[in-house]
Parts: sequence; C-alpha cells; structure tokens
Amino acid sequence: MGVIVKKIKGTEDVLPKQSYKWQFIEAVMRDEAKNFGFKEIRTPVFEHTELFQRGVGDTTDVVQKEMYTFDTKGKESVTLRPEGTAGAARAVLEHSLTNEGLPIKAYYLTSCYRYEKPQAGRLREFHQFGIEEYGTSSPLADAEVISLADSIFKRLQIENLHLEINSIGCPECRPVFHNALKSYFADYKDELCETCLTRLDKNPMRILDCKSPVCSKIAEGAPKITDYLCEECENHFAKVREYLEIAGIGYTVNPTIVRGLDYYTKTVFEFVSDAIGSQGTVCGGGRYDGLIEELGGQKLPSLGYAMGLERLLMVMENQGIEIPEPEPCALYIAGLGDNAQSKAFELIGAVRNTGLPAETDVVGRGLRAQMKYADKIGARFSMVIGDNELLENKANVKNMTTGEQTELSLDESFAEKFSALVLEAKFSK
Ligand code: ATP
Ligand code: MG
Repeated sequence: MGVIVKKIKGTEDVLPKQSYKWQFIEAVMRDEAKNFGFKEIRTPVFEHTELFQRGVGDTTDVVQKEMYTFDTKGKESVTLRPEGTAGAARAVLEHSLTNEGLPIKAYYLTSCYRYEKPQAGRLREFHQFGIEEYGTSSPLADAEVISLADSIFKRLQIENLHLEINSIGCPECRPVFHNALKSYFADYKDELCETCLTRLDKNPMRILDCKSPVCSKIAEGAPKITDYLCEECENHFAKVREYLEIAGIGYTVNPTIVRGLDYYTKTVFEFVSDAIGSQGTVCGGGRYDGLIEELGGQKLPSLGYAMGLERLLMVMENQGIEIPEPEPCALYIAGLGDNAQSKAFELIGAVRNTGLPAETDVVGRGLRAQMKYADKIGARFSMVIGDNELLENKANVKNMTTGEQTELSLDESFAEKFSALVLEAKFSK
C-alpha cells in the first residue's frame, strides 16, 4: 500500500464503530469535572519549545528523548505538546487568570505527542484527560484532585486500579535527599546508563524513574525520600492521607514514585493497573508548587494529574466493562420513487427535529436493499412509502422487533405521533 494510506507509526485511528467508547468515557470525565467545579481549558497543540524545556524539565525523558520538535519556516523552534500541564500554565499566566480569583480549576481532553517506542499502551500520539488546580497549598486540594480521578474510575466501574502515593518533598528538604542519592549512585557509576550518568549531578532523583532494567535494579536500594522530608512536607503528606481516608479512597504509600516530569513537589501519585502489562500507570500526577514561578509567574502552589485514555480503555476492556452503545436509528423510511423519496426526506427531517435519529435512502437503492440496510443499522422502526401511501397520506410504521404495525398520517402530526410510539414501545435489546 502506498504511503498515503498508511498511518504514522505509533498513531491510532478511532473508527466510527469504536468512537462511542471514547465519547462515553469523555462524557463521564467532563461530567465529573463539572461536579468538582472544573472548567475546560483548550490550548494549542504546539508551543514554543522553551516552554516544555522549562516547564517539563531539561533532565526528563520527555524533554531529552521524546519531543516532536521542529523549526517553523519563520525559524522558530516549536514542539507538539508532550503533555498538557505546561501549556495550561502558560495560558493561566498569559491571560492573568490569577486576577479572577483562586483557586483556578481547569481540565483538558487533548492529544499528546511523544517520540517513544510504540507498544501496547505506549503510543506516539495518545490522549489525556487532565486537571489543573492553581493557587492552593492545602492538602485538601490534593485529596480533592485525587477524589476526582477516583470518582471517574468508580463511575466507569473500574475495579482493578490501585492508588499509590508518595511525597517527594520541596526545595527545602530535597537537596539533602539529592545528596544522599548522589553518594549512593556514585558507587554505581560504571553500571548506570548514559542518560542517568548525566542526571547524577543535575537531578539524581530522575534516576529513580529510569526504565532501564539495570538502573531500576540499582535504584531499588537507593535512599527513600520519605526518610528525608522536612516537617512541613511530612505534615502535608499526613494530612493528604487523612483526607483520603475520610473520602474512603484506599491507597498504598510507594516511596519509589517520583514521576517522570521535573515540576513535582510534595504529593505525587499514580493509579496503577496490574492487568494491562508493563504500561500499567493509567493516571499520574501530583503537586507542582514551583511550576508557575519557574515559568516566570508569581509563586502559585498548584497541582493536577493526567490520565491516558488509551490505557484507561485497555483496563476497561480487560475487565470486560461494557460501554453502552449509542442509540440506534429510531426510524428508517424507505421511499419508492421520486415523490415518495421527497416525502421520506421531509418526514425524517421532522423526526430528527424531535431529537430522534432517523434515516432514509441516500444511495438510490431498491426496496429490498433499503430494508436490508435498515436491518443492518438496527433501526427500531421502519416505514415504506410508495404511491399508495402518498395517495392516502398514511403509512404503516413497523416495530422491527415485534413486527407490530401502526398506521400514522403523513402530515404535520407525524413526528409527534411517532415520538409517542417510540416512548411506548418495548425493544428486545
Ligand atoms: P510512563 O511512565 O508510562 O512513560 P509517564 O510518567 O511518562 O508514563 P505522564 O507524563 O505522567 O506519563 O502522563 C500521564 C499519563 O498519560 C500516563 O499515566 C499514561 O496513562 C499516559 N501516557 C503517557 N505516555 C503515554 C504514551 N506514550 N502512550 C499512551 N499513554 C501515555
Ligand atoms: Mg513516559
């Protein structure tokens, strides 16, 4: 096949047969976000490369290896967003949203781009639902954002996910931890991968997040951040755990979670599934109290997370969760001949205006083929209009499940009477 009918490696199409699944989970996400007081933010798919270098962090895998970066014709370096937080933070600053009162609560549903090795649950174009809450340092906010993720999973009836949380400290206590890590990893200089060697000086915590088996093995024996937290971070973490308990959200503390992006402080967390293989992290996030300042704004403690839609769908599929299929066509009208077709076209218009899906032939098929199509699309009712029906201005609407027929006039009352019929009808499925 030629190149134009092949998608780019690491990208996926969502075909019309499958898109209802995406729409369903997205609708749940939007609705839960609304219940928690979050409003949607939409930012461009590309940003100045510098934003991600600063916002995501120079020493991260994302910035070092995974970004789609290119020069525009105007010789500007731009990057396709690898994640949503930096762009949202940029928009908050650019539009001075902080003047409109705190906290600012925003969510996004977007595509992200990372040049990674494609495999199950790891794509080059993938989709995230994410939330951002700016302007609060309270541990209640940490518990609130985690609750929002938890509510989404509960509404989707997902059971096989567990919450792991950690605190990775703040600029007060982290330097001490960094030093402890540096002296620990210094003994393994000969074994660490090249990337981690460069991280040893600049950001040794990143080594804990390395995916190479050798580095992860070494990392197992490394000092634990939870032994190095300052009093404030310790108290904050204790409060977050207390609030999670109040919310009835189960968790385990996992001191090895550091998250892949540089901007995190204090709370970090992941919702992990054991059921979908090594790409088991469905949702990851935490607090990033220094991000807005890093991007040139005021000090604005903030937090958030992102969940991967592809991985979420994998978990749901694995658990056998059935996503409700979209409402099928309520009425298919077959028209025989030009005049009947015009009438059919007029009537389906009226039915559609009542909010019910209706279809007629737009291909020019004969009656049998039209009825076959009505069957294929699972039409609840069908109706045939020919010369006789036109003459009498009446036709039989047939319930495709029971075979029952009801005569309706083909006048202005048609759509309303048909809706009433739909309300009364019982269907097999
Ligand atoms: P991982 O450790 O699996 O590489 P990450 O730490 O890079 O994940 P984040 O940047 O925190 O991931 O992104 C949040 C979520 O987005 C992840 O938990 C995952 O569900 C999803 N995600 C991240 N990268 C990809 C990808 N390449 N393909 C599909 N989903 C992804
Ligand atoms: Mg990653």
